[in-house]
Amino acid sequence: MCPAFDSPGRDLSLPAAIDHTLLKPEATEAQIRALCKEAAQYGFAAVCVNPYWVKLCAQVLADTAVKVCTVVGFPLGAIPTAAKRAETQQALDDGAQEIDMVINLGAFKSGDLAQVQTDIEQVVAAASGRATVKVILETGSLDSAEVVQAASLAKQAGADFVKTSTGFAGSGATVEDVALMRATVGVEMGVKASGGIRSRQDALAMLAAGASRIGTSSSVSMVSEEDQSAKPAGDERARAELIEFGRRLWQREYVAASEGNLSIRLGEDRVLVTRTGACLGTLAPEDLVLVDLDGKPIEGKAEASAELAGHLEVYRQRADVEAVVHAHPPYATACAVAGLALDQCVLPEAVVVLGAVPLVPYATPWTDEVPKALRPHLSKCDAVLLANHGAMTWGQSLAAAIDKMEILETTARVTHLALSMGKLSTLDQAAVERLMQLREQKGLPGKLTPCRP
Ligand SMILES: [Zn+2]
Repeated sequence: MCPAFDSPGRDLSLPAAIDHTLLKPEATEAQIRALCKEAAQYGFAAVCVNPYWVKLCAQVLADTAVKVCTVVGFPLGAIPTAAKRAETQQALDDGAQEIDMVINLGAFKSGDLAQVQTDIEQVVAAASGRATVKVILETGSLDSAEVVQAASLAKQAGADFVKTSTGFAGSGATVEDVALMRATVGVEMGVKASGGIRSRQDALAMLAAGASRIGTSSSVSMVSEEDQSAKPAGDERARAELIEFGRRLWQREYVAASEGNLSIRLGEDRVLVTRTGACLGTLAPEDLVLVDLDGKPIEGKAEASAELAGHLEVYRQRADVEAVVHAHPPYATACAVAGLALDQCVLPEAVVVLGAVPLVPYATPWTDEVPKALRPHLSKCDAVLLANHGAMTWGQSLAAAIDKMEILETTARVTHLALSMGKLSTLDQAAVERLMQLREQKGLPGKLTPCRP
């Protein structure tokens, strides 16, 4: 493993995650020199250039922390392994510290996985611990199963990173592919997102999805945006959180298709909410809309979630609430369909965090009936079931609201399983009182109505 490896757990600032890239064949010496200067000035991780320019970059960047990255078998990957080895050797001799090699896509599609792995192994061997090796999978040409398979091969072959795209094929990096690659390679490898990443928001979405490196030629404008103080840093963090937690809800199958919606309050009177029709599993920054507390759009081209009115009602009634989650987790929703409130004391954690979860009478979704139906419950609890619909939770942060949704679903599921075994024994009065004391001692925030012993 190369010492230059970037742990995904590291709190990367955006500049330190960027490979400042110029791979256009017509790039001139003056442009390459300018690239190096910018990389040093802004503190980018590396410059990524064609092999011809490695020597020049290594000289120019000799006294800086910026690494020189180059490409091998680029951009098609369809050259003999010996040629990739030779290119790697030459690049190292010229001063390269990072090698972005293209996978043999044709061999991969032919099912010759052993050849694909050998191809990578040989480049890793040629780099022999002197350079970081990133394997470009060209994810735009692969389906999800193939992305997983190709990323696994790169891991088995001992590469340091998997990378999405050359930027020279049809499509570039997607949040979905990055998340899939991260899930496949785990924490031991880096994931580089590249191809079509032009805005700061794109880059942050990739980092939120699990990328540890961003390949882009728009680096300077991306980090200059950062310098403008027009947007508070909290806004960016909120965007990244909505994307991250949306994916988590979708992965846990708490929402399907375009179900569910999330929001975060920014300051006193602005709310960042998911757009109508968005799939929470694949949220991108443009799927988020900034509105005021009356629902009037402030920023974002899309239309806010049709269930925004319910979120806004929570924010208006509860000054302590910073985030609202609405989802349709199957067991909680089944309770809501069966007409059952989750108000019995079943599991200690649920007793302490949720208390009694009421069943809000059915209201037509996407209408003003929803906030009206919610109103009587908002001062009494942080989680509700919506009859024949789903569930809503809220809290002092998005993470807290999501936690409540997960505890709610676990409670519904365990209750269902226990009932199917023929017995649901609940905690007695003394046990509940003890738990309520603990809640008090811990000073847990939010509102709660004790559940039924
Ligand atoms: Zn819904």
